[in-house]
Formats: sequence, C-alpha cells, structure tokens
Amino acid sequence: MNVVVKMNVTGQIAIHQQGDLARARLVMLDRDGTLNVEKHYLSHPDQVELLPNAAAGLRRLAELGLKAVVATNQSAVARGYVDPPTLDLIHGRLQNLLAADGAALDAIYYCPHMPDLGCRCRKPGTELLDRACREFRVHAWESFVIGDQATDIEMGRRAGAITFLVKTGYGLKTLEEATTSPHYVVQDLVEAAEIIGGLLAPPPAVAGYMVRS
Ligand SMILES: [Mg+2]
Ligand SMILES: [Zn+2]
Repeated sequence: MNVVVKMNVTGQIAIHQQGDLARARLVMLDRDGTLNVEKHYLSHPDQVELLPNAAAGLRRLAELGLKAVVATNQSAVARGYVDPPTLDLIHGRLQNLLAADGAALDAIYYCPHMPDLGCRCRKPGTELLDRACREFRVHAWESFVIGDQATDIEMGRRAGAITFLVKTGYGLKTLEEATTSPHYVVQDLVEAAEIIGGLLAPPPAVAGYMVRS
C-alpha cells in the first residue's frame, strides 16, 4: 500500500493513504511567492514574473481534474497603491503568461481590505475559500491550499483543507518561524501537485477471499 508520509515544520507526521481523497476537486493557491515572484506591493502588470515551476504545477493539477483558483490578500488596493482595474490587468497578465506555458487559473479571488478592518475575506479568514467552494460546488475539507505564508496555511487549516507550504517566496522564512503547521512542506507547485496526485490515485485493490466452485 502506498502511504505518503511527510514531516511538517512542527515535527508532526501527516499521513494520508493513497485513495483517501478520491473526491477532492479544488486547489486554492496563493498568488505572490507561490505562483509569481514576490514583489513588495506588486502594482503594475509588467512586474508579474512567473516562478519557474508554476505553470508545470498547474498543468499537472489540471491533468488530475482539479480546479485551480487563486486567493490573494491585496491591501495594496485599500492603501491606494493599485486600483481594481489595474489589479484586473495584473491578473490578465498572470493568465497570459500561464497560457503561454499551457496552464490556466479557473478563478482569481482577492481581498482588497486593510488588515485592521477585520473583514472575513483577508487570509487567514476563510471567506475566499468558502466562496470558491460554493461556486465550484466542493467542500472546503475536500480541498487543498498551497501558499508561502502562515496566513495561507491557517486559512486552509481553519477550513479543514489539506495544506502545503511551498519553499518559494517567503516559504523558507515561514518554515524558520515555525508559527504554523502545514500538512506538507514542498519545494514548489510541482512537488505539491505530485503529492496531490498520490492522494487522489485510486486505492489499491483489496485482497479478498476467492471462492472455489
Ligand atoms: Mg504569498
Ligand atoms: Zn477582505
């Protein structure tokens, strides 16, 4: 039997048996530091630069039949660094770069609010994940969350999703700070997709009794 065993940052072992998650259908990804290179308050489409394995990871997730959506905290909007039409252009550029590499995102959700507003959509709040789950008709606990910061992992944890911390972006810093407990720590989206592929694989055939006639 194939069992995926990974040690997370707090030393706990996450075990899911192959086939346990055959019905899971949605992956919620962070944007900055997970799909594209982290730029402090990215505010122009020209600043969008894909991480090396981003498109390959998304292609693999699509092959697995999963919807891939983004949730991103964009207090840059409330701060006046970027307006919603420009944010749409930034996300258009992100989709174009991915499309050039054979990949796509099924939806992009963002929180435009200031951190101190107390909204429910700013990660680690679960509103964006809840919204995506409603729109794609899946359960949050059947979903996967991938990101580079504690807020990403905490959002997933609160919703009951299976969480992956990538080492890209702020990932190594997050790992060092050890303030959160992802189920899996992975190099990047490709490794996350490989593990998800194992979790979604059909369960191995169960040995049964043979009846002689
Ligand atoms: Mg990030
Ligand atoms: Zn918000």
